[in-house]
Amino acid sequence: MAKTSKKMPRRNRPPPKGSLIGFAGLGWELLVFGSFALNLVAIALFASPSLDRGATPLGFDSEGSVAEAALVASPHLDGQKEKMVSAEEEISVSSTSGSLPASKDAVINLDHGDPTMYESFWKGMGNRGDITIAGWQAISYFSDVTNLCWFLEPEFDHEIRRLHRLVGNAIADNHFVIVGTGSTQLFQAALYALSPPDTPEPLSVVSAVPYYSSYPAVTDYLRSGLYRWAGDASAFKGNAYIELVCSPNNPDGSIREAVLNSEKGMTIYDLAYYWPQYTPITRVEDHDIMLFTVSKTTGHAGSRIGWALVRDKDVAKRMIKFVELNSIGVSKDSQLRAAKIFKAISDGYELPNPENKYKLFNFGRQHMSMRWNKLREAVKVSGIFSLPEFQPSHCRFTRERTETYPAFAWLKCEKEGVEDCESFLRSHKILSRNGKYFGADRKYVRISMLDRDDTFDLFVERLSSLT
Ligand code: PMP
Repeated sequence: MAKTSKKMPRRNRPPPKGSLIGFAGLGWELLVFGSFALNLVAIALFASPSLDRGATPLGFDSEGSVAEAALVASPHLDGQKEKMVSAEEEISVSSTSGSLPASKDAVINLDHGDPTMYESFWKGMGNRGDITIAGWQAISYFSDVTNLCWFLEPEFDHEIRRLHRLVGNAIADNHFVIVGTGSTQLFQAALYALSPPDTPEPLSVVSAVPYYSSYPAVTDYLRSGLYRWAGDASAFKGNAYIELVCSPNNPDGSIREAVLNSEKGMTIYDLAYYWPQYTPITRVEDHDIMLFTVSKTTGHAGSRIGWALVRDKDVAKRMIKFVELNSIGVSKDSQLRAAKIFKAISDGYELPNPENKYKLFNFGRQHMSMRWNKLREAVKVSGIFSLPEFQPSHCRFTRERTETYPAFAWLKCEKEGVEDCESFLRSHKILSRNGKYFGADRKYVRISMLDRDDTFDLFVERLSSLT
């Protein structure tokens, strides 16, 4: 196993003066307790069966029941059935998403975008993505007190900038890098940073339909006085707003621009899927706030790491403040792992690699291309569904004309008499996410294209048999 090369003196420096306000004595304890309590409340909210589908934990159906999940075996439990618990009893909920289907008629859970497709790539990487962290390492709260983002690991910062230079998908070099516990945390940090603290009314948060199903739930779950979900950006009337632009878009894979344009309006670009395995890289994005996540870049959703590229120093400071108040920084263990994972990817392209192995984006493109071909074929055979079409474009990264292969299929049920595609698929034991959670029609569903091969193959086989 490769070891992380760590320069220890930096870690032993004293905390910065004034950087973590209220960090001494009782203030500190209150802060930690407050943050812990807040997290528990948030977990309980997310685990509540009554919540919107966009915020339910893994393995839940739309009524919040885990019953169907019992039909799916987990490979991590060596074929044992998952232990079923109710959300009220237990906070930790077993994942059925991404589990190997136990039999031909097993429930296929493609509701969540769990990126387990990437497991086979990382198995093929040998120890290139491994790290060892000694028991005494990475203990301090602080990562680099000379950085505005004092909890950002320098190795992570370095590898993020290197990866963006390699791929050419976004400008990192004139931006601050802010790390977060998933881009979900940074999304909230950005809302906090952009909302004026003294407005009588919460600022409207909008996104064009179909929008990522978590945006409304994450915006509103704490009933903030600073900002409030206001729905479809295309239908919004007013000058002051925060518009969320997800491009390529979750759920439909389209390339998007802001639909609103006002001096008082602000935009957050969620570029989680702007990577060459999903879409041609046609330009270097250069926006004020751009969000990314390792979940969809490398597949390491479980590390819960995201990053923001932020142009303005004051906005960056407020986002950093949010992460400080919300979780007192971000796991160093996860950042060090993500740094090693990114290093392995960039090395795969920048160091001699005669057999063309170890190239994550090549692996991703090949898999996504095969999957989309299989899916389009199944849709043709079945005759009762339709899918969006995409035009190929020149990709600056591959230097070829390439196709679009979104991480989700935005599937429409065209069958007469079927008004709710999610229920229709559920009756055939395929779990998907209903179009209504994206502000769209129930005839649409979102289906994850990033599950393991066996699950995906079983899905297309079953889909092609539906008439
Ligand atoms: N933005 C979009 C568009 C996403 O699809 C996701 C993950 N489903 C996220 C943000 C959240 O990513 P993370 O796992 O880093 O919280």
